[in-house]
Amino acid sequence: MSWIFAQRLARHSIARITRALNDAAIPCPSAADPGRNPRPTNGQWILTTVRAILANPRYTGRQVWNRQRTDHILIDPENTSLGHRDVMRWNTPTDWIISTQLAHPALVSEADFVTVQHTRADRSTAPGRTYLLAGLLRCRPCGRRMEACWAHGRPTYRCRHGHSSATLPTVHRLPNAYVREDHVLPHLPALIIRLTEHRADLNGPAVPPSPAAAVEHLRTEAISLAFDPTTRTLTADTPRGERIAIG
Ligand SMILES: [Zn+2]
Repeated sequence: MSWIFAQRLARHSIARITRALNDAAIPCPSAADPGRNPRPTNGQWILTTVRAILANPRYTGRQVWNRQRTDHILIDPENTSLGHRDVMRWNTPTDWIISTQLAHPALVSEADFVTVQHTRADRSTAPGRTYLLAGLLRCRPCGRRMEACWAHGRPTYRCRHGHSSATLPTVHRLPNAYVREDHVLPHLPALIIRLTEHRADLNGPAVPPSPAAAVEHLRTEAISLAFDPTTRTLTADTPRGERIAIG
């Protein structure tokens, strides 16, 4: 289990970790996350099992409650005579209850666990297509992580606000948000100066870092940026909420 966390910290993709576990013929524990994945997999690892392990805070040695809840919902809102059914739903991590005492041996440190939750695999699989900002941008209107996409020969980030081609279009649907990477990068050094100017632990001259160093700083500090397509601004998810306009 701790090997899986180590691989993820090394920025390996979930798919690559899953393949490696199967290649090494390590049996998939059926009880990796009981209840979550009831389908039989014949001891084979599948993506959802690896993803569930990486997201399970029990591996920090603490007991966790309230990760799921049961919702009592109408089977058909148009026809209440059909009655209700129970649906298991996942609570957001802010609703989880986590013990302060260690309940069992820790397989991963809390610092590493938190890092893993923000880790995205290196996306260098398509030759020549590198997304420097992958995983760092959120869509301000809907809060979703923006997805990297290659558009007009350039790295671009997009949010469809949870819609897909399988979703029925609605009248009030927001237009997709797009932002080009080369429109963001030149503004990041200024943002880093604002993020660090009050920090005593990062003293030194306020020399603008290179865009690459700025990206590295955001990743190290696990800071994400919320993109507002209307004002074309990026807001850091820090207590001070530093904001830059990208024009
Ligand atoms: Zn969105």
